[in-house]
Amino acid sequence: MRVAVVGGGAAGSLAAIFLARGGADVVLLEKNEKLMKKLFITGKGRCNLANACDERTLFQNVVRGEKFLRSAFYGFLPASVMEFFESLGVPLTVERGNRVFPTSGKSSDVIRAIERELYMQNVDVRLRAEVQSVKFDDKFRVSFKGEDGKVQSVEADRVIIATGGASYPLTGSTGDGYKFAKSFGHSVVEPRQSLVALITDENVKELQGLSLKNVELSAYSEGKRFAREQGEMLFTDKGVSGPIVLTVSSYGARLEKIKLSLDLKPALDEKTLDARLQRELAERANQELKNIMRSVLPERLNMYVLKRAQIDGTIKGNSLTKEQRSRIVKTMKGLEFSVKSPAPFSEAVITAGGVELSGLTPKCESKNMGGLYFVGEVIDADALTGGFNLQIAWSTAKIAALDILKQ
Ligand SMILES: Cc1cc2nc3c(=O)[nH]c(=O)nc-3n(C[C@H](O)[C@H](O)[C@H](O)COP(=O)(O)OP(=O)(O)OC[C@H]3O[C@@H](n4cnc5c(N)ncnc54)[C@H](O)[C@@H]3O)c2cc1C
Repeated sequence: MRVAVVGGGAAGSLAAIFLARGGADVVLLEKNEKLMKKLFITGKGRCNLANACDERTLFQNVVRGEKFLRSAFYGFLPASVMEFFESLGVPLTVERGNRVFPTSGKSSDVIRAIERELYMQNVDVRLRAEVQSVKFDDKFRVSFKGEDGKVQSVEADRVIIATGGASYPLTGSTGDGYKFAKSFGHSVVEPRQSLVALITDENVKELQGLSLKNVELSAYSEGKRFAREQGEMLFTDKGVSGPIVLTVSSYGARLEKIKLSLDLKPALDEKTLDARLQRELAERANQELKNIMRSVLPERLNMYVLKRAQIDGTIKGNSLTKEQRSRIVKTMKGLEFSVKSPAPFSEAVITAGGVELSGLTPKCESKNMGGLYFVGEVIDADALTGGFNLQIAWSTAKIAALDILKQ
């Protein structure tokens, strides 16, 4: 059986390996000059390829598509993914939060191991092969623009589309798979940026580069809270970023009019924080407020908080009224931001949206066109950071490949 796999990223490359190991004749078509360009930059170049968590945690970290992914995950759980990579000669290390990395700390080692296996399994890898269309007559015909710019085609009995999402398009994922899906009558859930920095209406330039630990971010849409995250975040030139912001961006990827409320001192309630402030003020009654505030908040942030509370930082500690003090406390416990938009796709770690799951079987086969499969980020399933998105890529790739081999 001849199978064409479109897209030589994480999902496509793994699908090709499983297919070839099972005896299929596989052609892997990748438009870049090399395979797995996105995988190379994952985990800041270290490739967080899975999460060594229990099943419950795995499902909890999926934001969209959790039910759909159940069969795929059970067919290739994190422990089996780890075994797979170790059997390819990539020793792994489990780090904080159960994040799994190659022990070498190099994504290139993961890529090299996959490439070696593709070669060993005689997968026909075509680079600089940009697929233009997938059609079906009595067989599939996949047309692609080759190295010489000429359009050629391959025939196949089955096709797997693994073209990725629409984020980081420089790596090759430019949303082509959506076009192929639509040509077979599939609905595509509008792609949105996810795991991405958020741009705020408020000007935060003066805070750019400031990172905060142990803060709590609550996010609201239409007045309803949809996320509350504690941990680290960062101010950018245009808004906010960092771990808890990425998580919020994922939960809010399909929501509008997002408002954020940042609690700078989540461990202290308003009363305790007020008492702390009073102590500082009493100890340094003759100093300027902005200097007193330095012992409560990091430099720059104290000035920003006073500005947002509309209090002059040059007034003396002993002239601060109770009402003003209460305004400072309230601002520190709920610094508000309105989200103008997420940062662009070019900066989004993942795409929320894609081929609608109701159009696919749990084995990732098209319900409209037997023999056509969609795997990886191209489908409307995504997860939080921690190795879960690559887990989706590996698991969907394997279940589709095994389904093809069964026929
Ligand atoms: C900066 C960054 C860091 C990340 N870090 C992590 C991490 O540490 N852990 C984690 O789990 N996830 C991480 N992710 C997410 C993860 O990389 C993706 O979820 C995963 O790569 C998706 O795999 P895929 O094979 O579906 O798509 P991709 O890896 O995007 O592969 C798609 C491939 O298809 C090719 N293609 C597209 N269109 C065509 C066409 N018309 N013809 C031929 N080929 C085509 C593309 O060139 C590309 O090579 C990160 C993402 C980014 C952007």
